[in-house]
Amino acid sequence: KLFEECGFSPALMGAITKQGYEKPTTIQCQALPIVLSGRDVIGIAKTGSGKTAAFVLPMIVHIMDQPELDKGEGPIGVICAPTRELAHQIYLEAKKFAKPYGIRVGAVYGGVSKLDQFKELKAGCEVVVATPGRLIDLLKMKALTMLRATYLVLDEADRMFDLGFEPQIRSIVGQIRPDRQTLLFSATMPYKVERLAREILSDPVRVTV
Ligand code: AMP
Repeated sequence: KLFEECGFSPALMGAITKQGYEKPTTIQCQALPIVLSGRDVIGIAKTGSGKTAAFVLPMIVHIMDQPELDKGEGPIGVICAPTRELAHQIYLEAKKFAKPYGIRVGAVYGGVSKLDQFKELKAGCEVVVATPGRLIDLLKMKALTMLRATYLVLDEADRMFDLGFEPQIRSIVGQIRPDRQTLLFSATMPYKVERLAREILSDPVRVTV
């Protein structure tokens, strides 16, 4: 299977080629067509599998499909990750593919200036990559609105649970419209993660690598 078969635009294909991605990884082969079809997905995959591109590439397509992208405010894509290291990695990967389209990606995590992140969000972002605690803080500060968010990714969900982020995740999900597309990635599926997935995903397709 090739990236071309996903129907990506020439601009996105150009960005993929520029990254040196010649063919999709196993998780990308399995997940890309399903995510692009708009279905919710549970992806059981580890770091190193190429899972980031499996949710970032369809997110770019999803954002570019919005009829009035230049109107409205707040992110369309929201990605939650357990640690600032992972959030930063996702941010870098998302930026590579977002840049050719002028899609703005904001990174929101602890350990760095909240005021700078507040200003970045206020200036406008179509994508936010965040750790749950900091995102909650910035939502409380009204740095952003979730009214326009329709593409939600929970990455490394098992680790977010291990770090005690379940209440924050539930609060974030509760602020995003229910007709969103939701993707949950996890290396393992313990009962608590399975239960959350059942509650917040609609009729998900399960992909395991
Ligand atoms: P991830 O599992 O998303 O953290 O990705 C692991 C590494 O694989 C990252 O450095 C990606 O840039 C790289 N990668 C992702 N997809 C591909 C691909 N289709 N071909 C080559 N490298 C890839």
